[in-house]
Amino acid sequence: MSELTLAGRRAVVTGGAKGIGAAISRAYARSGAKVAVWGRDRDALHAMGEEIDGVAVECDVTSTESVEQAVGTTLDLLGGIDVMVANAGRAGEGIAFEAVDDELWADVIDTNLSGVWRCIRSVVPTFKEQRHGKVIVMGSLASVVGMSRAPAYASAKAGLLGLSRSAAAALARYNVQVNTVLPGWVRTGMSAPELDNDAVRVRLEDRTIQKRTGSPEDLAGVCVYLGSSASDFHTGDVIRVDGGYLLA
Ligand code: NDP
Repeated sequence: MSELTLAGRRAVVTGGAKGIGAAISRAYARSGAKVAVWGRDRDALHAMGEEIDGVAVECDVTSTESVEQAVGTTLDLLGGIDVMVANAGRAGEGIAFEAVDDELWADVIDTNLSGVWRCIRSVVPTFKEQRHGKVIVMGSLASVVGMSRAPAYASAKAGLLGLSRSAAAALARYNVQVNTVLPGWVRTGMSAPELDNDAVRVRLEDRTIQKRTGSPEDLAGVCVYLGSSASDFHTGDVIRVDGGYLLA
């Protein structure tokens, strides 16, 4: 039956203790899911795990070994995984286009693109075996509009569109749905350098038909839907949640 609830679902939220991920962890718990919060900051993880009566699992998405261990720990603690929210990401470069050196380029791609690949790949055996699963990828509007001072970030996020559609095609026969969410400007630690600057914030708000930036909670509802059986005929899609950025 198609229902907008996460009752009985076991979900991983990567980067689930801060910013957008924290809002998703809380919304998932409120909707009935048992949540495994993944991340690197031990204190933040444990605080969130306690708050939502979930579990905290240390994981660095730049390490295959760490991701594989986190899957094993999560399967042991929750008894299964039904939903993977691949949300963890690092900030863009924030420097002149041509100043991005090879090391910084590789680092941004490793976290924001390869990290999501590792997380999706790590749950494929479980999803195939149980013949169901949901993957929600946290992309960015940057994948569509580009970022002059963060080319690696925008490229990594654009790469996620190909990755998520490939995963949707590869896993459809196993009853696994894969979709990507594209947030616009959302107030978190990551966007603070831009949004704490009033002049920049006003310019960004002005480019948005809703005339405001987003809160992390603005992203949570669509992730609840995509993790629930209400989205069982919805896959390979890219959903903008940006208040109508650039439509103004
Ligand atoms: P935050 O900086 O608040 O959160 C980022 C999260 O990612 C943290 O929980 C952090 O966990 C985790 N993370 C970063 N690197 C790693 C790593 N190597 N391994 C594991 N976890 C990691 O940012 P947001 O909440 O804003 O960002 C969440 C997602 O939303 C990102 O993918 C971002 O690109 C995307 N996004 C954000 C927008 C915005 O305006 N805020 C706009 C568009 C997209 P920890 O500190 O524990 O390592």
